[in-house]
Amino acid sequence: MKRQRVLVTGGAGFIGSHLCEKLLDMGNDVVCMDNLFTGQKDNIRHLMENPYFEFIRQDVLEDVYVECDQIYNLACPASPVYYQYDPIKTGKTSVIGALHTLGLAKRCHARILQASTSEVYGDPEIHPQPETYRGCVNPNGIRSCYDEGKRMAETLFFDYHRQHGVDIKVIRIFNTYGPRMRCDDGRVVSNFIVQALKNEDITIYGDGKQTRSFCYVDDLIEGIIAMMSSREGFTGPVNLGNPEEFTMLELADCIIRLTGSKSNIRYLPLPQDDPIQRKPDIRLAQKELGWKPTVKLEAGLKKTMDYFKEIV
Ligand code: NAD
Ligand code: UDP
Repeated sequence: MKRQRVLVTGGAGFIGSHLCEKLLDMGNDVVCMDNLFTGQKDNIRHLMENPYFEFIRQDVLEDVYVECDQIYNLACPASPVYYQYDPIKTGKTSVIGALHTLGLAKRCHARILQASTSEVYGDPEIHPQPETYRGCVNPNGIRSCYDEGKRMAETLFFDYHRQHGVDIKVIRIFNTYGPRMRCDDGRVVSNFIVQALKNEDITIYGDGKQTRSFCYVDDLIEGIIAMMSSREGFTGPVNLGNPEEFTMLELADCIIRLTGSKSNIRYLPLPQDDPIQRKPDIRLAQKELGWKPTVKLEAGLKKTMDYFKEIV
């Protein structure tokens, strides 16, 4: 396979760093661009010695000039805690980041993949969620900067495709977890594991009966790469996630059991617009990409716990 010059925005983040690693393993020339808002140099330190890896500390709000064959646009804080920290910047990152990377793809004739999200479905009334479902999203709530920013980014991707013939790929990622999440990331899997390892209270928001479907990062990376190399003309959007669904209480029980923790459960208020249930319909990914996740929740959690044991 010809060595591709690949740009990964958000490449020092949780998913981005695994993606850079995999792309290098496949023999590509990788440029990681990140402003290190939620990303960390530690996530990519082991890649720095590789002559085919470059790190550029840059915000996607700046013009992006990197000659490349492929672009993965992942730059955007993904945890509610971080994307709500500066919501205006979050909206700008999704929208202006999409414009900058799409402009680059147009000029370089590069194929470009957008990391969209299950949040485009909002608090869904249809279960599980197929790609054809248009969502139930609050346009002016505390999650809107992220949800609507990602929806607008999808719009821009499809408009660049229709208007300029840009070769786009859009994936909708459902809750993904694994090593290299931050201890203070704020998302549920890292929160519960860190709390369990420290024997602190496990913080359940609401009654804990809301559901999510958790995908281990290695499975997701396989799906992302499969989408980038999918047939010409298949743009997506395509759901990537693990359809096994759990309540937050079930997740907490599982983590307490696996860590042997003495933690108790503490109930806190459910944040505004927190989706009640979420589970991907992955039939399209199976059909078009021949992809489905293989890592069971317990196996993925054990690997994630091993990582957190090192850093907590
Ligand atoms: P993350 O926060 O670890 O990674 C995001 C990366 O983008 C970080 O390295 C951050 O520093 C960087 N970044 C943020 N704003 C930037 C900007 N303006 N300019 C340059 N870099 C910037 O989160 P993640 O979980 O790795 O998510 C990666 C992508 O996948 C995001 O686009 C996210 O929306 C999407 N996604 C993730 C999940 C999930 O469950 N992990 C689910 C759906 C979608
Ligand atoms: N959650 C929780 N305790 C925490 C963090 C999150 O109960 O310490 C809940 C949160 O309210 C949501 C679910 O876990 O219902 C998943 O939250 P996360 O922030 O991981 O992802 P998202 O809501 O974006 O799917």
